[in-house]
Amino acid sequence: MTASSPFITLSNGVKMPAVGLGTWQSSPEEVMAAVKAAVKAGYRLIDTAALYFNEEAIGTAIKELIDEKVVTREELFITTKAWSNEIAPGKLEPALRNSLKKLQLEYVDLYLAHMPAAVNEDMSEAVNSPVEDVWRQFDGVYKAGLAKAVGVSNWNNEQISRALSTGLTPVHNSQVELHLYFPQHEHVDFCKAHNITVTSFGTLGSPGRVNFTLPNGHKPEWAPAPSELQDPNVLAIAKEKKKTPAQVLLRYAMDRGLAIIPKSVHENRIKENFELFDFTISQEEIAKLEKSKISQRLFLQDFMIGHPEDPFADERK
Ligand code: NAP
Repeated sequence: MTASSPFITLSNGVKMPAVGLGTWQSSPEEVMAAVKAAVKAGYRLIDTAALYFNEEAIGTAIKELIDEKVVTREELFITTKAWSNEIAPGKLEPALRNSLKKLQLEYVDLYLAHMPAAVNEDMSEAVNSPVEDVWRQFDGVYKAGLAKAVGVSNWNNEQISRALSTGLTPVHNSQVELHLYFPQHEHVDFCKAHNITVTSFGTLGSPGRVNFTLPNGHKPEWAPAPSELQDPNVLAIAKEKKKTPAQVLLRYAMDRGLAIIPKSVHENRIKENFELFDFTISQEEIAKLEKSKISQRLFLQDFMIGHPEDPFADERK
């Protein structure tokens, strides 16, 4: 029997699996095999985005899995995200319909604003669309039934507060960079206080980020960062519990009440990253793991510098 992930309940009652498969940097060929291996291993949540250029392949994999009766649509939880040029005024609903067409779905389970900063079609210019206006568009697609839940990604607390102040659909989920060396306690506390669930991305420290190449061939610079998979406290707990360092890092986030979406295109790691339900990391062990006190954002999202809705403007000062 395959294991199954526990769930996290969103404020509208929708149940989101606590463990999903990340797909950033997974090519269409890789993602087809990865999604199939993941669903067969018990995963039900798949995290993608228009910007990952793999929605079509994920749609094909899902259709085949449903046709083969491995899983039903209702059992799956599909998250996708609107890129910055898709949150500009009037762009969101057509963008979501386009993603749905690629995914061969009638609805997504969670639709996220990938970033808070709107840009024009070819991303050459900022579009001054305040987050309140962006959120109005999310309220629209939610009420149209195109998404079972809606949320944000890479938004700061003040921006989320402004979305909430519209009094429209609440923000159901916030997906942020969060890992042992960037624990985001303030953001998690803020979200808990507002009944917003949190998804951690980069939970393993995103070791593959350095290989990222933009569609135009440009390879962004990444600041050097220590490997969390080699952290001495992680290694000690892994040895003690007979688990791998990756499993300790993933369970660290889960035991803080967060959803996780580790990415891999290798079947052995996909399985390893789901073998998390036979151990826990206690509050004392979380405190021990956090002793290094490193807090380093890896994803700087420089393209938003100077934008009126740059979420990290204060951190950049
Ligand atoms: P991650 O999940 O922390 O790390 C993925 C990297 O770790 C890949 O290079 C993978 O390589 C490797 N890996 C996977 N399992 C491993 C294991 N058990 N042992 C050792 N190495 C392992 O980083 P991420 O992909 O940056 O983040 C996860 C997901 O979050 C993304 O895929 C995406 O869906 C989402 N995300 C969202 C945003 C956002 O702005 N909202 C930004 C970044 C990511 P292999 O594939 O070669 O196994």
